[in-house]
Amino acid sequence: MIMNNFRMTPQRRIILEELKKTRKHPTADEVYHSVRKKLPDISMGTVYRNLEILTKQEEVQVIRNGGKKKRYDGNSTKHFHIKCTNCGRIDDLPENLVGLIKKNITVDCGYEITGYSLVLYGLCPDCKKKLGGK
Ligand SMILES: [Zn+2]
Ligand SMILES: [Zn+2]
Repeated sequence: MIMNNFRMTPQRRIILEELKKTRKHPTADEVYHSVRKKLPDISMGTVYRNLEILTKQEEVQVIRNGGKKKRYDGNSTKHFHIKCTNCGRIDDLPENLVGLIKKNITVDCGYEITGYSLVLYGLCPDCKKKLGGK
């Protein structure tokens, strides 16, 4: 855990716990709604500010190309995402993909990768079933 100079306030701890609990990659609004069940007096601004700090501390990562709104991920390990084009749900792709792609790019293109933001698109299993009519 990277603490830097930020104190982990009780509010921030609860926000982080809520994010770690879900695999849904919620928007700031959704984080606010789930945190409010525990902290009824918390404001949207406080949630937003704490999400920014958690992102800087690398406790949380932001998915910027997952849609119009930023989505937050309580899983701070490096991984890629896949987004359902029908319902908008975002899932994690296996972690070993990151290593695989990095290795190939280093060999084929000679680049040293220092960062990335990749979202694949597709139909999630639920939507595939629904749209398949079965
Ligand atoms: Zn879907
Ligand atoms: Zn994720």
